[in-house]
Amino acid sequence: MTGMTASATIASRVAALTERIHSAATAAGRVPSEVRVLLATKTQDTDGIAQAIDAARAHELSVLVGENRVQELVAKAGYFAGLRTDIHLIGPLQSNKVNAALAALAAATHAAGRACIQTVDSASLARRLASRCQGNAPLDVMIQVNTAMDEFKRGIEPALLPNLAEEIANHPTLRLVGLMTIGPRSRDRDVTTAAFESLRTLRESLIDRGHAHARELSMGMSGDLDLAIAAGATIVRPGTAVFGSRPTV
Ligand SMILES: *Cc1c(COP(=O)(O)O)cnc(C)c1O
Repeated sequence: MTGMTASATIASRVAALTERIHSAATAAGRVPSEVRVLLATKTQDTDGIAQAIDAARAHELSVLVGENRVQELVAKAGYFAGLRTDIHLIGPLQSNKVNAALAALAAATHAAGRACIQTVDSASLARRLASRCQGNAPLDVMIQVNTAMDEFKRGIEPALLPNLAEEIANHPTLRLVGLMTIGPRSRDRDVTTAAFESLRTLRESLIDRGHAHARELSMGMSGDLDLAIAAGATIVRPGTAVFGSRPTV
């Protein structure tokens, strides 16, 4: 495929995505601009990412970038810095990669934008992040919750959420800004909606417990972002809906 064809395709996919977001938000009585669009850029090259960002900004979407793998985040950090946008880690973080992840996030957002790690799922990871981050402002983190109770997925059990939120609140170098989940694989819309609504309920209970900054709900990927918006998503995470199908790895 030539560069021009690829960019036309990304632009038309972003146009279609904008339509989806607008109609899902409007149907739910929400303002479309309440929903930020995190581009899931794993395996994408910088040309494609640039085209997607330009197209999203042209549609006045509030756009940010999420990477899954620390190695890829490290490789793209210099490029991301030039985008002047928020950069989030949305994949699992192993403790031996914490230093590399923090350095890459800091580099990617040094001029503008905020960094966030969406995938905190244990007290030990929270403690390690807290002891290693040393910016002037606290590091934004989200807790990944296994709302689908799917044994193959990452994220903590909902029952353990209050304790992990407390752990994070005890560290002045961390700021809990919300919750993240990966929807169930089910094709049953009711099952998916139930998972997203449970994340929203969990967020309400965190706010009631005094975690006042925990407002974000990062949920919904290409296949289920409409349901996530209906359930209150503040960040949706499309990948293939913008970039087309990824090469299988
Ligand atoms: C890959 C990925 C996405 C995007 O998935 P698509 O189905 O391509 O939209 C979103 N969130 C996470 C955590 C991912 O790993």
